[in-house]
Amino acid sequence: MSFFQREFVAQSAAVRVSFGPGVRHQVGAEIARIGGQRALILSTPQQAETALAFAKDVGERAAGVFTGATMHTPVAVTEEAIAQVEEIGADCLVAVGGGSTTGLAKAIAYRTDLPQIVVPTTYAGSEATPILGQTERGRKTTLKDPKVQPEVILYDAELVASLPVPMTVTSALNAIAHAAEGLYAQDRNPLSSALAVEGMRAFAEALPRVVENPGDLDARGETLYGAWLCGTVLGQVGMALHHKLCHTLGGSFDLPHAETHAIILPHAIGFNAGAVPDLLAPVAEIFGGESAGQALHAFSEKMGAPTRLADLGLREADLDRAADLATQNAYWNPAPVTRDGIRALLDAAFHGQAPKH
Ligand code: NAD
Repeated sequence: MSFFQREFVAQSAAVRVSFGPGVRHQVGAEIARIGGQRALILSTPQQAETALAFAKDVGERAAGVFTGATMHTPVAVTEEAIAQVEEIGADCLVAVGGGSTTGLAKAIAYRTDLPQIVVPTTYAGSEATPILGQTERGRKTTLKDPKVQPEVILYDAELVASLPVPMTVTSALNAIAHAAEGLYAQDRNPLSSALAVEGMRAFAEALPRVVENPGDLDARGETLYGAWLCGTVLGQVGMALHHKLCHTLGGSFDLPHAETHAIILPHAIGFNAGAVPDLLAPVAEIFGGESAGQALHAFSEKMGAPTRLADLGLREADLDRAADLATQNAYWNPAPVTRDGIRALLDAAFHGQAPKH
């Protein structure tokens, strides 16, 4: 399979990636390598213990710990963390956690330009992108800025091994969504497509082994490798139907982020597979099915992922309004986004039926 394109623009960020079990213990050396003397270590309250262990490991170059990272990167939390940055004279940031903690590091870097070292503990992939989503007064906005891209990433499979299986599965599907949508992105390039295919292959190969044995460090390592590749794709290209639809459902009906993504993915990809079957052929091949959407649906079910919007608390009576909202603002997508088409997609996702393509 060749991803050759006649014309394209490709741009990659200068990021140092260090990969391997136990690599988190290199954080101190990485702080020194970027010239840092006073790091602020960031985490969620749930991962405070891990952050404190990092501070102990780093020693005198750890100037403080902020454990207030939370979902959707509220600006008020960022401001609180920046007050601590100023108070302790921090000259670099270390984020230990998932997309929420990475989001906080990015939000601080956006405002201070401090260098960031990120140690991911989920598969979300935010560490590999120059994208920042943040919320203020209930409104979420997204921006893209090179300042936001973390300079150093340490991928340590031992840290992801504690991620509970249901979160492991939804987080992996979130990563796969970036790769799958990357395959048909308008601004894709041969490198982003090759990364997308290899990233999905890593998850297809290793996620079943992780679900079987969450402590299997070899399988955890391979899924983390997949997370890096899929995150890198997200950093390079634009997303379409899947992400817009999840944004609408999450924002307007208060549905949980990770589960909503997991349920919508096979349907959004199936919706587009009819329009761009060749571009999505690798998805069908990697996950083993007649078509891309059906292959993802079968893989999700096998991994024990949620498959019915009905189970998330959405009511059947909400589907018409959801279809209206999701088709209100026009955006680019390989298949035309029609009200009837989206209503049918939502119906299938509501009942957990397999997509047509
Ligand atoms: P998360 O960071 O919100 O983590 C969820 C919970 O799991 C937290 O309580 C966290 O402390 C805990 N947790 C994380 N890793 C753990 C581990 N190994 N063991 C035990 N508990 C662990 O979840 P997420 O899915 O990684 O991130 C979601 C957020 O990231 C969303 O807000 C999403 O929009 C954002 N995101 C942004 C980008 C980007 O490029 N800007 C990309 C992907 C996701």
